Formats: sequence, structure tokens, C-alpha cells
Amino acid sequence: MEFYMPTKVYHEKDAVLNHASEIAAIGKKALIVTGKSSSKKNGSLADVKKALEENGTEYIVFNEIEENPSIATVMKAAEIGRSQGTDFVIGVGGGSPMDASKAIALMIYNRDSSEEVLYQKIDLKALPVVEVPTTCGTGSEVTPYAILTRDDKKTKQSISHKIYPVIACVDAKYLMNAPKSVIVNTAIDALGHFIESYFNKRATDYSCMLCQYGMSVWAENLDVLLGEDITEERCNSLLLASTLAGMAITHTGTSIPHGMSYYLTYNMNIPHGKAVGMFLPGYLKLMSKQFEDEVAMILEGLGFANIEQFAFFIKQCMEVCELSKTDKQNILNEIMENPGKMASIPFEVSESDVREVVEFMGK
Ligand code: NAP
Ligand code: ZN
Repeated sequence: MEFYMPTKVYHEKDAVLNHASEIAAIGKKALIVTGKSSSKKNGSLADVKKALEENGTEYIVFNEIEENPSIATVMKAAEIGRSQGTDFVIGVGGGSPMDASKAIALMIYNRDSSEEVLYQKIDLKALPVVEVPTTCGTGSEVTPYAILTRDDKKTKQSISHKIYPVIACVDAKYLMNAPKSVIVNTAIDALGHFIESYFNKRATDYSCMLCQYGMSVWAENLDVLLGEDITEERCNSLLLASTLAGMAITHTGTSIPHGMSYYLTYNMNIPHGKAVGMFLPGYLKLMSKQFEDEVAMILEGLGFANIEQFAFFIKQCMEVCELSKTDKQNILNEIMENPGKMASIPFEVSESDVREVVEFMGK
């Protein structure tokens, strides 16, 4: 077994300001990478700017990261970062700006390389990266993954390079005023990370420990996901769960629900967590063929009596979309041709087993 988790995590109120001098000392000029507007509204960008200014570290801001970031946007930001002499990158926002910040850090460091290197299996370094999450799902603040949209393959895929953030600053205050849909979708993404990491060929005692404890934390928040008002305590709990889930998938990767979700996001613009959630009940059903007792134990820990109740919960907290016959077939074809995700399933499965995962929510 191997356990490697090099990111220093500060999870506390005012984490960015409390550790300002440590963050600012990483380099001389930071490239702050954000989405279009949320980081301005939730105070995260202001905190990062203040932390750098107080310590005399220069910075520039790139605020054009779109949801499911494109390679073109990554290359644009990297070009600006290179020309402005930035020597470290701070990602602020949800998984999209955090993932983009890692790919940008790689492309600034490798200044003479073209975008092709993003998906080449070669050894490349990157500038140091700091992450400040403002959603409660991806765990990108601790994972080495950077998922970008690949128009050449009409899907999404993590770049080939593992880029671990050096510091993650997790602060519940940025999440407090997020729209309910962002909280629900991203929390379901974190649950997907737990389930797909726990039932995974690469699972170890260490990753299972993260999943078991993390799911118990996650389950404290069922009422919030079903409509109760969010509190600071609940934001902290959801963020703790998502960071733990990120640590778990760092060691195992995700499985077929994530692999299937990319079709829905790429072709139907369905948010990441919602797209993953569509396939979680079906994945648990498949896992119960081999691990009936463990599936029952996980469901009980999450607060559900059986898979049907879990599927009902998913439908209650998010609008599950209807899939056409063609979409279902395309999702099946795409996942069957994804050797990485198929190899993560912990036992031999047939195509008809996988088809049942695709179809479960439609039944
Ligand atoms: P996101 O795409 O980063 O953001 C979704 C939306 O939420 C954006 O409109 C964003 O606005 C807004 N937003 C973010 N924080 C907010 C806040 N505190 N208050 C209000 N609005 C807020 O969403 P995400 O689900 O966190 O990230 C999804 C991406 O992460 C996908 O590309 C997925 O593939 C990837 N992912 C990565 C990993 C990994 O291990 N690296 C794991 C799972 C998923 P702005 O655009 O204005 O900021
Ligand atoms: Zn995910």
C-alpha cells in the first residue's frame, strides 16, 4: 500500500489571512486564477489579494475560467502568466478554476511547450500551486488531478501530470451564500468520490478509512441537501467531507459513474456533480452483486434503508434528466472504451452489467 498526501491543509475560519505570510512567501509574483464572478462576491478573492498585499508579494488576476475549463483558456492564462513573470499560481473557486490553475502552472513552467504536452505521459514540473475552494465537492484542493474539456475527443479528461497543491486553505465562509444548487451538486460529487473510491480495485485500507469517516461526516448534512437552511457548521462539515473525498480519490481515482458523467456534461451541459449523481444508485446496485453486505452497511451509514431509497433521495435533491435511448447507448459505448475507468471496477463485469448502471435511474 502507498499513502502520499503532500498538500498542507489549513481548514479554519480566515485560513487565507491567518497563513498570509506563508502563502505570500511561495514566490515573488502570483497569478490568481478565478471564475468569472463568484470569487468577487464571496470574499475569497479579496482575502487572497489582501494576504499578498500585506506581505508585499505582487500579483495579477485572471478571471476568465469557465465551468469545465477548456484547453484554450488554460493556454491563454498561461501566456499571460509567462509574459508577466509570475512564479506561482493561486486557484480560487470551484473545481474549474482550481483544476485550471494546476494546468496553467504546468504550462507556465514549461514555457516553450505547446498544449500537446498536457496529455503526454512525460515527466514535467509545474510552478507551485495554492488552492482556495469555494464549493464543497471536487476536493481539487488536495488532488493532483486537473480535468479539462477535450474537444478533440468530445469529452473531459484529467491531464497526464500529477500536480499536488502545496497549500489548501479551506474556509466555510466562502460557501455560506452559495446557491443551493451549487451546494447540492457539489456535495453529490463528493459522495460520488467516496462511493467510487470505496468500491474500487485500487482501494486500500488508507483510502477506505478516509471514505468511511468521510461518509459519516457527509451524512450529517442530508437535511441541508433536502432544503434546510445552511449554517457555518454545516458548511464546515460539507467542506471537510469534500476534502477527505479528494484525499481518497487521490489514491484510487474515480470509477464508471464519473466516466459516464463526462458525456452528460460535454453534450448536455449538465453540472458535474449532478451528472455523477445520476449513476451512483446504479453503481451501488452493481456493487451489491459482489459486496451485498458492504453496500448495505454504506447505505445504512449514509442514512438509507436500501438502494431504492437512495435513488429517491437523489431524485428529491436534484432534477434527474431523462436520457434518450441514443444517449444511453452513447454513454455505454464511451465507458466500455475507457480502459482506466473500467479497470477500477473491483470485479469482472459484463457489458450488460454496465448497461444496468446507465439505465438504473431511468427505470
Ligand atoms: P465550478 O465549475 O468550479 O463552478 C460552478 C459554478 O459555481 C460557477 O458558476 C461558479 O461561479 C459558481 N461558484 C463557485 N463557488 C461559488 C460560491 N462560493 N458561491 C456562489 N457561486 C459559486 O464547479 P465545481 O463543481 O466545484 O467544479 C466542477 C469541475 O471540477 C469540473 O470540471 C469537474 O470535472 C472538476 N472536478 C475535479 C476533480 C479533481 O480531483 N480535480 C474532482 C471532481 C471534479 P464562477 O464561475 O463565477 O466562479
Ligand atoms: Zn467529481
